[in-house]
Amino acid sequence: MTTKPTIMKFGGTSVEDSEAFRNVARIVNSASPQRVVVVVSAIGGFTDALLSSVEKAIDGDAPAATRSLDQDFERHLVIGKRVLGSEARAAFESAIAGARNQIRELHKIVAAHPSTNAPLRDEIVAFGELLSSQLLTAVLRENGLATSYIDARRLIKTDESYGAAVPLAETTAATQAELVPLIEAGETPVVGGFIASTAKGATTTLGRGGSDYSAAIIGTALDAREIQIWTDVSGVLTADPRVVPAARTIPVLSYQEAAELAYFGAKVLHPKTIQPAMDRKIPVRVCNSRAPREAGTLIVSESEATPQTIKAIAHKSGITTVQITSARMLGAYGFLRALFEVFDRHQTAVDVVTTSEVSVSLSIDDASALPEVIPDLEKLGAVEVEEGRTIVSVVGEGLRGTPGIAARVFSTISDINVSMISVGASSVNLTFMVDDARARETIVRLHRTYFEGGTLEDRIDRTVADVLV
Ligand code: ADP
Ligand code: ASP
Ligand code: MG
Repeated sequence: MTTKPTIMKFGGTSVEDSEAFRNVARIVNSASPQRVVVVVSAIGGFTDALLSSVEKAIDGDAPAATRSLDQDFERHLVIGKRVLGSEARAAFESAIAGARNQIRELHKIVAAHPSTNAPLRDEIVAFGELLSSQLLTAVLRENGLATSYIDARRLIKTDESYGAAVPLAETTAATQAELVPLIEAGETPVVGGFIASTAKGATTTLGRGGSDYSAAIIGTALDAREIQIWTDVSGVLTADPRVVPAARTIPVLSYQEAAELAYFGAKVLHPKTIQPAMDRKIPVRVCNSRAPREAGTLIVSESEATPQTIKAIAHKSGITTVQITSARMLGAYGFLRALFEVFDRHQTAVDVVTTSEVSVSLSIDDASALPEVIPDLEKLGAVEVEEGRTIVSVVGEGLRGTPGIAARVFSTISDINVSMISVGASSVNLTFMVDDARARETIVRLHRTYFEGGTLEDRIDRTVADVLV
């Protein structure tokens, strides 16, 4: 391709009502002298509603499941009414009617065969992105842009891990074959995020928040100029703004810092977004669709990133920790392999690991398989489980070479019980566990220590303190 395209991904909060759709149209229009591919999530809250409708169907009440979506279909219709002309509106209304009928039939099948729910859940939840992308295509067209609606299932090919599908290599060729001719003809393709399909054509999804990942996959396949993630905050912030209202935008992050933040809970980016972009060195920019003039965050290679400082605090609550204690571990080989095989067998991902001479502690995010995991672990040693823990992660390239960071972090929260301390393998994060009940306080205090008190003197003091502590 002669000019590289820009991928612009809009999240659910950027398309929650008619004003938000108009706003997205303005943002895409002002970028459109460049080549653009638009990726869009389901309208805000609709994915949650679709997923809980599936649960109602599994419980056996298909009519209640279908009825529970009435309000959300109404929201779509209201947006269509407000932003589309009569022809486009009629087409969209018939798409809604078609979706409603198909979902009704799918709910009936789920209610009759609840055990087959995984593929059907993806089939149902995909309507969120299918409808938002059709609606956005029409809105952009009404705004004078030459757009084409593309079903993402023709681009992103995955395995059959429904709910958290893994893209396959053929995605690149499929994406190029579908999109390059359109882009070269001056069209703006509009693609639903989050959804994909297997080689046999069954619908899959990439995991919650997966539209960011779709944007990265498509951007990588097209060797994009930039992947832009448009959301409801001005970039990646120094902490979760719901916990720390004073959190502020980080202007530049390295890929590694962004990946660690996303992995350890910064919801603004899906954790799988960074790797594909990093492989091709494609810049990722996180921008605010409600304040499009604000600079947001630029994520680039480490070498281009800003000075060596602590950049942010991420956290993930509701974590379970498991400790396995066994004298067999002492000086023996093969023990850790046996231990990890148990988690492997039960398809349970482990986030943080710390070891002592006779015990291993692990943290797991999804504890649903724990009832099966524990008996297998008990064959290896005594098992202790703790629920309701929070992983806190302090992230920044500054951790690489600055002495005293750990002392400063832990002296700030010296009265809070901390466990499983580890400096990440990438050495850009310092991670530890606290109880969920103390998480907010931990993050607020660390934020105050590292990021608040905005005078230059304060900042110099902090830097000097980091070196001296
Ligand atoms: P979208 O619908 O655009 O995908 P998300 O809700 O998935 O938006 O992600 C944006 C939200 O992530 C923000 O509104 C914010 O509450 C949350 N968030 C958590 N940690 C951070 C952080 N460090 N920086 C920015 N936002 C964060
Ligand atoms: N709509 C999906 C979700 O809510 C994907 C996304 O928004 O990124 O998880
Ligand atoms: Mg998201």
